[in-house]
Amino acid sequence: MPQNLLDFDLEGLTAWFTELGEKPFRAKQVFHWIHQSGVADFAQMTDIAKSLREKLQLHAVVQAPAISYAHTSNDGTRKWLFDVGVANGIETVFIPEDDRGTLCVSSQVGCALECTFCSTGRQGFNRNLSVAEIIGQLWVAIHSLRGEVNRTSGEIAERPVSNVVMMGMGEPLANFENVVTALGVMLDDHAYGLSRRRVTVSTSGIVPAMDRLAERCPVALAVSLHAPNDALRDQIVPINRKYPLCELMAACRRYLVHAPRDFITFEYVMLAGVNDQPEHARQLIELTRDVPCKFNLIPFNPFPDSGYEKPRHDTLRAFREILQDAGYVVTTRKTRGDDIDAACGQLAGKVADKSGRVMKRMNQEAA
Ligand code: SAH
Ligand code: SF4
Repeated sequence: MPQNLLDFDLEGLTAWFTELGEKPFRAKQVFHWIHQSGVADFAQMTDIAKSLREKLQLHAVVQAPAISYAHTSNDGTRKWLFDVGVANGIETVFIPEDDRGTLCVSSQVGCALECTFCSTGRQGFNRNLSVAEIIGQLWVAIHSLRGEVNRTSGEIAERPVSNVVMMGMGEPLANFENVVTALGVMLDDHAYGLSRRRVTVSTSGIVPAMDRLAERCPVALAVSLHAPNDALRDQIVPINRKYPLCELMAACRRYLVHAPRDFITFEYVMLAGVNDQPEHARQLIELTRDVPCKFNLIPFNPFPDSGYEKPRHDTLRAFREILQDAGYVVTTRKTRGDDIDAACGQLAGKVADKSGRVMKRMNQEAA
């Protein structure tokens, strides 16, 4: 089997080159070609000696996951579904805004943590993504978006992806080593050179892994809180039974010592009648008293048979105002790309539909 060079950070690539009897600076050149120029074909790496190019052709490939579907929504949001060799693919979403471009990246096929409102959780766990499959999502997105006109700013995108959020399918901290290696490549100036402050890991709260992330690769952290007390969180975010809120809040405080930003973002999916009442907002204020934080309220994104509903506008507004009046910065996630289901786990959920009808429809749309 040829070695997939997307599986390596620069250190790994250098070690592999050394095994081949090649100098470290050659690894750096090839790393630039792959990540900065988006070149997968060794023959095009013109400043590399022909003998090395031939050796690479024999022993290596640069292989991102295959795109099974790509679509751009009316508001410029783009979505890719990648074939990773199992029934349900993984998805990646690009959200362009005036001052930035955010890529939402997946870390696993499915997820074992079974949050009750999450369609990825409903699919169960299939497997971890490899480093190549994680970084490959960024590689495909950047190199297919580069040079396009940004629909919101009208400018030609030189660096179309300025921010990455690990908020696609899966729990990034449950695929720790591969995610940390991929994060390293995102941050590396020899590859994408993204700022630590602009790369965010979102976790449902795997406490020991939060500490390890702080040590190994402190990037911005978002924590999926979704409930202000253990009784409710135990039900909707089952990992809470293992790492309850007091431990989670302590882990957030420890993380902030290393974090590139001086706050944690708490994500809070608003589920009508479940966690969206004024008393919940007041409990949240009490809970997070000692943790510098911002809130990101996410209206529930419905999927078939979920059993949950979106909150009403006025309920959401009242909830937000209680937090704002207490001095919190609160954002409400806009729903973008609605027409292409560009939200957590939605598209892949549909593709898993055994009849294959939805996939057929999407292929027709894409044609
Ligand atoms: N596993 C990680 C990251 C992926 S999910 C985590 O849980 O944080 C990214 C965010 O989308 C999480 O906050 C998650 O709770 C939220 N989410 C999942 N399903 C959702 C849905 N149906 N509607 C709105 N948000 C959802
Ligand atoms: Fe997994 Fe995150 Fe979905 Fe929970 S919300 S099931 S942790 S992907």
